[in-house]
Amino acid sequence: MESKNTGTCKVAKKCGGCRYQGVPYKEQLRIKQKQVERLLKPYGKVSPILGMEDPYYYRNKVHAVFGRERSGAIVSGTYQAGTHKIVNVDDCLIEDRKSGEIIRTIRGLLKSFKIWTYDEDNGSGLLRHVLVRRGFTSGQIMVVLVLASPILPSKNNFVKALRKVHPEISTVVINVNDQKTSMVLGRRDIVLYGKGYIEDTLCGCVFRISPQSFYQVNPVQTEVLYGKAMEFAGLTGKERVIDAYCGIGTIGLIAAKGAKEVIGVELNGDAVRDARTNAKRNEAKNIRFYHEDAGKFMVAMAETGEKADVVFMDPPRAGSDEAFLSSVIKLSPQKVVYISCNPETLARDLQYLTGHGYGVQRIQPVDMFCFSDHTETVCLLSKKVPV
Ligand code: SAH
Repeated sequence: MESKNTGTCKVAKKCGGCRYQGVPYKEQLRIKQKQVERLLKPYGKVSPILGMEDPYYYRNKVHAVFGRERSGAIVSGTYQAGTHKIVNVDDCLIEDRKSGEIIRTIRGLLKSFKIWTYDEDNGSGLLRHVLVRRGFTSGQIMVVLVLASPILPSKNNFVKALRKVHPEISTVVINVNDQKTSMVLGRRDIVLYGKGYIEDTLCGCVFRISPQSFYQVNPVQTEVLYGKAMEFAGLTGKERVIDAYCGIGTIGLIAAKGAKEVIGVELNGDAVRDARTNAKRNEAKNIRFYHEDAGKFMVAMAETGEKADVVFMDPPRAGSDEAFLSSVIKLSPQKVVYISCNPETLARDLQYLTGHGYGVQRIQPVDMFCFSDHTETVCLLSKKVPV
């Protein structure tokens, strides 16, 4: 069953986020399948892409940039593709609807609280962005107000007014971003209300999500993706597993239930802190997390002659690097499960691994980003038997 409101988006052209607006969902899947096949067919057979039953309103994270039009009207939404002009967004077809409502409520409250939106050109004003994250399983909601300075006038009354309209909000955080930058978040978080994080459940594990941590934006398809990753790993309880680029520890913690030992490595300190808390929260005693560059960490492991049975790797869009991949070869795991959000860098990295003793067994695309042109793929490689 698809959601009722599936009309076309009024700002699709200006926003540019949904490349496939107006393209029937089945056709989108066909296009993505072809794209993955074009890049990855040389390495093995590509299984049919796993799509969503209902491809609307799937994003659990909604980000809106705030500003003013020449008329003085406050707008919130997204930057017009390739510019710094803000497109007002009222009903996005892929974002969580409740989160969108909260953003519109904030837009409506600003005037009476005399909170001015930030002006990128002259650096005046206060509110730059609002980020809302909702745990689809837990129902918990986090609102992050990204401000150009740490001081929000009448902050308690503002939170009260916001929670009066949306009592379901679990936590409100100020994030201070006082730099002239295109990055959304600054380094400093100040909790205004609640715990400063939310929790959500995936594949039977509970995860803490802080404002700065990476968390997959499509929770329904994330379960499909991780399910495939676990199926490919085929853990029996005896394995030593590495979860590289582990974020808040999602894949590693799910794997820990079926493995002897798991080692997670991640560059973002906040995510590592969340990962350690998540290990305690899920009573996983066979997992350790390291705060380091994944490539450097793997090189050090390989140099000390350590071994691993299964390596999960889930790098950002840029893919992995040679330091990491060459160390994988040295650590010599039986299986590598590569989860990728960019088939182009995946193809590049597969070329390296298949040139160094590994063969591709399975290639499974999963549609995590319906209507956009991004595609996620999970791929199983295993060590070739020497002849
Ligand atoms: N596996 C996690 C996160 C995947 S996103 C999940 O499924 O939720 C990619 C992660 O790689 C991000 O958390 C990012 O902070 C991290 N990362 C980026 N570059 C890295 C590097 N050089 N070394 C280790 N981690 C890195």
